[in-house]
Amino acid sequence: MKDITETSRGQWTSASSAQADRNCPGRHNAQKGIPETPSSDSDFGTLIHKALEKGDPAGLTADQESIYLSVLEIEKKLCVKFFGPEVEGLTPNPVKEKRFWSNWADPAFKHSGQVDRAHRKGTKALIVDIKSLAGEVAESPSNLQLRDLACLFDMNNTALLEIGVAIIQPLVTHSPEICVYTRGDLMKARTEMYARVEASNKPNAPRIAGPVQCKFCRSKSACKEYSAYVGSLLPVPKSFVDVPVASWTPEQRQSFCDNFDIAQKWLNAAWEAMVAGAEKDGGFVPGYQLKDNPQRGTIINLQKVFDRASELGIPLADFLEKSTIGNGNLKELLRSFAKLKGKALDMAADKVIGDDEKLSAPSRSLKKA
Ligand code: SF4
Repeated sequence: MKDITETSRGQWTSASSAQADRNCPGRHNAQKGIPETPSSDSDFGTLIHKALEKGDPAGLTADQESIYLSVLEIEKKLCVKFFGPEVEGLTPNPVKEKRFWSNWADPAFKHSGQVDRAHRKGTKALIVDIKSLAGEVAESPSNLQLRDLACLFDMNNTALLEIGVAIIQPLVTHSPEICVYTRGDLMKARTEMYARVEASNKPNAPRIAGPVQCKFCRSKSACKEYSAYVGSLLPVPKSFVDVPVASWTPEQRQSFCDNFDIAQKWLNAAWEAMVAGAEKDGGFVPGYQLKDNPQRGTIINLQKVFDRASELGIPLADFLEKSTIGNGNLKELLRSFAKLKGKALDMAADKVIGDDEKLSAPSRSLKKA
């Protein structure tokens, strides 16, 4: 097995789509040639990852810095729990943001995974995956991405007897579980990973639609299996549209809520495909033409705007009454000028805001019980 060093997964499978590739073997080939939407360097999570890689939170917003500090605190706790109290926190030279590869010769294909951070002490290693948002993530024992990362790390390092994996997601929990792989577990996981990657690289790999694998698949608008799947979930006339909503049975109500999200995504994707088609060809949708949506502006220099407004007689108090400041920006000011951080910063922001906050009207939604 050769360690290769490309930093991008390129046209090969990767650990981050392990679960989706297992559910739909044809997904990898279906997406070939369809460009990924590039993530912006200024994305919330990207900035936190970069700061952790540098070991310096400079440039983060107050909310990002709070997550940065929580990640380090949780990571230290995990290291002590996994390696024992003698490590006193983080190990000296953790691996940071490194892509590990496996490279098979016959048939020829590669597979990779990006490790956020990994610590090693003797024959043990701990891999942590950092999630800076609150979205749902499979628990680490059942998380195929982390299982792949454990295999890939093992294949590129020698003499490891045990690898622990954990997800650090401060907005969800400060006490994540560590899932431990022994040598036997790693060999079994490696065999299964190979079988899955081999299946994904077969030219006629079957496509099997479902919520996990289709969610971020770039092939959705050209995939007939996906269309058939969504069509089977959409409310069909006989059972839904022919019956007024108020007369739906409990089963129809539940079926509608179960599938609303998937149907909504399909509608959005289909609408985007119509707009994209019309941009290239004016006759793409007969009877329809492109229209420009109004652009929304944000005032970026309130001082200059006030200076000009005051020349027209607008007093400061009236101007301020119509101006707003977000919670995040207020925290930025408190962090810069009052030199506050973490909980002290949150408490100070609450105190400064007091009762002078206008909350949006309460709204309700539904979530699965
Ligand atoms: S859209 Fe769904 S079914 Fe089609 S290739 Fe992608 S994951 Fe598979």
